[in-house]
Amino acid sequence: MLKDKIGMIFGVANKRSIAWACAAACAEHGAKQAFTYQGERLKENVEKLAGELPDSLVVPCDVTNQADVDAAFDAVKERYGRLDYLIHSIAFAPKEALEGEFVTTTREAFRTALEISAFSLTQVSLAAAPLMTEGGSIVTMTYYGAEKVVSNYNVMGVAKAALEASTRYLAADLGKQNIRVNAISAGPINTLSARGVKNMGTLLGYVGEKSPLKRNVTASEVGNTALFLVSDLASGITGENIHVDCGYNIMGI
Ligand code: NAP
Repeated sequence: MLKDKIGMIFGVANKRSIAWACAAACAEHGAKQAFTYQGERLKENVEKLAGELPDSLVVPCDVTNQADVDAAFDAVKERYGRLDYLIHSIAFAPKEALEGEFVTTTREAFRTALEISAFSLTQVSLAAAPLMTEGGSIVTMTYYGAEKVVSNYNVMGVAKAALEASTRYLAADLGKQNIRVNAISAGPINTLSARGVKNMGTLLGYVGEKSPLKRNVTASEVGNTALFLVSDLASGITGENIHVDCGYNIMGI
């Protein structure tokens, strides 16, 4: 399905990362992929994982540093010459902002969360578009806390709301270049970032019980949806937010 396609994956921290599940699903269908990592401490992890896939590239990229972003896209251009899809799977908020009441969010925590978790999608889309010479697909990861209040999710919910709105605005801008931009709203999954949210275990239990499918979603189910969105099977879909959450979001009382 993705033979000869080139992808760029932001957000692999380890093998539990949603980004890794996306990359694995795409690689199984023939894609070659570049991986970015943030900070030296993740380098070894990401190089080891990427080394399991054919013709992969690994480059450092902290999205708060524009020089890193520029260098990452230059490296992709040099290695592959173009790009067909990009998966944006990064988010961050200071730990103290992910517990207690939202009303106490500091200016600094708000700025950091919105910059890394929402603005970075626009930042990487702008850099990716010139490389998507044959059209392209951009996919980001969001969460239900953008739509409804989820205890402790706080400023990250506000960042995800900005991310979802950005998805629509970017889809409108980039559609004329045949670049599609979509979000996946994943149900809770036990990853490194998720563990930063206070009482994540309780949330997983609650959602698993209330969901129509009576379980939690898996990273590989999210990865398969990303595979669909970056493939030509989704050629008519842009600006959407697809819930991959075992149906949790449809439930009322
Ligand atoms: P993860 O494995 O911890 O991945 C998050 C990634 O974001 C990490 O690789 C992290 O690197 C990276 N990141 C943070 N700050 C960065 C920066 N300044 N520049 C570049 N990268 C940075 O967790 P995950 O759960 O797979 O999260 C992936 C995405 O899915 C996030 O957008 C998350 O909000 C979303 N999501 C997760 C869930 C869930 O329940 N797990 C549900 C819905 C949506 P560091 O480790 O170095 O910080």
